[in-house]
Amino acid sequence: AALTRLVVDNLREIPDFPEPGVLFRDITPLLANGPAFAELIEGLAEHYRGRIDAVAGLESRGFILAAPLAVRLGIGMLTVRKGGKLPGPVIGIDYTLEYGTARMELRPETVRAGDRILIIDDVLATGGTAAASIELVERAGGSVEAICMLLELAELGGRAHLGGRDVDAVVVY
Ligand code: IMP
Repeated sequence: AALTRLVVDNLREIPDFPEPGVLFRDITPLLANGPAFAELIEGLAEHYRGRIDAVAGLESRGFILAAPLAVRLGIGMLTVRKGGKLPGPVIGIDYTLEYGTARMELRPETVRAGDRILIIDDVLATGGTAAASIELVERAGGSVEAICMLLELAELGGRAHLGGRDVDAVVVY
């Protein structure tokens, strides 16, 4: 509940970004607020301590959350990146967006077999990015222990694309 308030109080909503008709949720005020950012990472660390062996951040804003959390917990961080950014060998999955397609990639060598992995990102929208990332982590031999999103845009139905897995959403809209 404290984390929910923290996120809600430090969020910005920008209409018509990046295109007309989209209400963009922006977490930069939260990141710029040192005490709030620290409290968020500490709260997440308490929640996941002992339950996970690595944190997978989804490019780009997931990286900002995954890195301090991994350091706080003394575990590794995996980078699930947009297509073409990682040097090989990589595994990749193409998925469809509302308009067009996208691709996420992972270096399977960074995943230790059987590791319990937390997937983290800022926003769960349609769920395509998270679904592709789950599949990549599992193909690489990891076990997806939890999925953490700062914001879930529930009306977009993202959860339904995640195979019935639990999503720990700090704020649900
Ligand atoms: P999805 O694949 O439709 O669930 O979209 C999720 C991806 O798009 C995540 O990587 C988010 O960072 C990004 N995204 C979608 N909507 C927003 C938003 O309102 N604010 C910030 N990022 C968003």
